[in-house]
Amino acid sequence: MRWVRPMLCMAGWRVLVLERNEQPGGAIRTQELTLPGFRHDIGAMNLGLFAGSPFWQEHRQALEAKGVSFVAADHSAGSVFPGGKFLGVTTDPEKNRRAIAGFSKADAGAWETWLSDFDTCAPHLFALLGSRAAAASPTALRFGEDQDVPDAVAPILRGILADSLRANLTARFESPELQAMIAAWGLHPDTAPDIAGGCTYPFLETNIDARQGIAIARGGSGNLMMALVALIEEAGGEVRCNATVERLIIENERAVGVELANGETLPASRAILASVTPGALLALAGDHLPAAETRRAQTWRHGPGTVMIHLALSDLPDWRAQEARKSFYVHIGPSLDDLARAYQEGLAGILSAEPFCVVAQPTIYDPSRAPKGKHVLWIMVRCVPAEIKGDALGAITDLTWSEATKEAFAERVLDLIEGYAPDLRNKILGRAIHSPLDLESLNPNLVGGDINGGSSHLDQAYGQRPFPSYPHHRMPIKGLYMCGASTWPGGGAGTGSGVLAAQSILEDLA
Ligand SMILES: Cc1cc2nc3c(=O)[nH]c(=O)nc-3n(C[C@H](O)[C@H](O)[C@H](O)COP(=O)(O)OP(=O)(O)OC[C@H]3O[C@@H](n4cnc5c(N)ncnc54)[C@H](O)[C@@H]3O)c2cc1C
Repeated sequence: MRWVRPMLCMAGWRVLVLERNEQPGGAIRTQELTLPGFRHDIGAMNLGLFAGSPFWQEHRQALEAKGVSFVAADHSAGSVFPGGKFLGVTTDPEKNRRAIAGFSKADAGAWETWLSDFDTCAPHLFALLGSRAAAASPTALRFGEDQDVPDAVAPILRGILADSLRANLTARFESPELQAMIAAWGLHPDTAPDIAGGCTYPFLETNIDARQGIAIARGGSGNLMMALVALIEEAGGEVRCNATVERLIIENERAVGVELANGETLPASRAILASVTPGALLALAGDHLPAAETRRAQTWRHGPGTVMIHLALSDLPDWRAQEARKSFYVHIGPSLDDLARAYQEGLAGILSAEPFCVVAQPTIYDPSRAPKGKHVLWIMVRCVPAEIKGDALGAITDLTWSEATKEAFAERVLDLIEGYAPDLRNKILGRAIHSPLDLESLNPNLVGGDINGGSSHLDQAYGQRPFPSYPHHRMPIKGLYMCGASTWPGGGAGTGSGVLAAQSILEDLA
């Protein structure tokens, strides 16, 4: 079957997008947060999901005409280790092989199997990700239309979909550094090394990076969103900012409009598509949600929080490991146990002594994000609690996200990075820090700094995301649909949930 990738406005619908912020884009925005001319992505920067999507293929020409272009970072990501070591993925297979052999000759061979397993599994994996979640079951290997997985592929695929990273990676590789390098990707969502199902995303990301690198948008991710807005407007739609939806208007058990925070009511004659979290949906719908969905929304688990540190720099960091100086992402989380600890501390409300950090160096590949010769650094600290219960070092005593706590925590992160890249502080021209609570106030979908609209563990993935009894982005209230990170296929700057939701709307109402 050919998937349609509709934009409702292009299918002849009158579309109105309501956005509470002054600027559209949600967690995909670019702003001069520090100094003039330094363009910082406040959220998503790796746009591989979008650039690899059928939606991009279909709308590429129109978006390029509106100024969108992607740059591929060929040294995509890697991890730094004590002693000035680094292991990363590039698009040069021979370079990757040599780098891995430097840690373990056996693993250089096992890496080839990791790559060939991807070739074997990719058709089924992509069928799964593009399929409707309710038909997908990772353990039974039943994915929508594609239920015929050959016997030779099934055990590999089942491992990738259901194993924890620790189980899968320690069975494949002997080098702790290679295991940690791959597993670091698991903490971009919330799949720490011991979480079932955690292998899928790192398998996809490392394999795609080894073939294509990481795609970022020239000038900042926000350029893509502005082009999408222009596309909607060109097709007759409207994007209205400073418009907070406060309540769904429901008559005869059908969603017929919305009420804004300023009291204005807007009718929706055909459908409402809500890109919110389950908790927010409950607040908008009130007692119109059935009991089971009300309970699900009340007990929806958000993943651990995030702190973002944005730096304007006079120069790039002097990583002790030369190879890290070319890497788009540098992960700091040197072992499976370090990653597991950082995650567990985040869940327990503890500020880690050595938190897991993703340090992105976009200006290596896209100098247009900073004035000539200058740079920006995007530091995402994952698994940081929104509600602080303690500090692993006992040094931060103010257990609220006050300015003092933010500054003290950012200093800890800079100390950690300087252990691998000395003298970073001397290059800092300006900085901005977003705590988990700041992220949520920038965008209410980022509850407690959870960047993915809810934990992506198996109980909240596939057909369980978010309401098991209401598949295909349809909701219990007629005329109401849901898309976004809290719905299948989950968080990330991809197009899957919007496309699948639009497909259901068109099927129901066209
Ligand atoms: C720090 C950070 C880093 C990330 N890095 C990456 C990355 O590198 N790659 C990647 O693929 N993904 C990344 N992500 C995840 C990705 O950005 C999100 O999963 C994605 O943006 C989710 O899209 P969405 O459409 O669900 O909603 P969002 O992008 O969250 O947008 C929702 C919008 O709805 C608005 N809104 C909410 N409630 C209302 C209301 N009642 N009325 C009106 N408007 C409302 C919000 O203001 C917001 O603008 C990152 C996220 C963050 C925060």
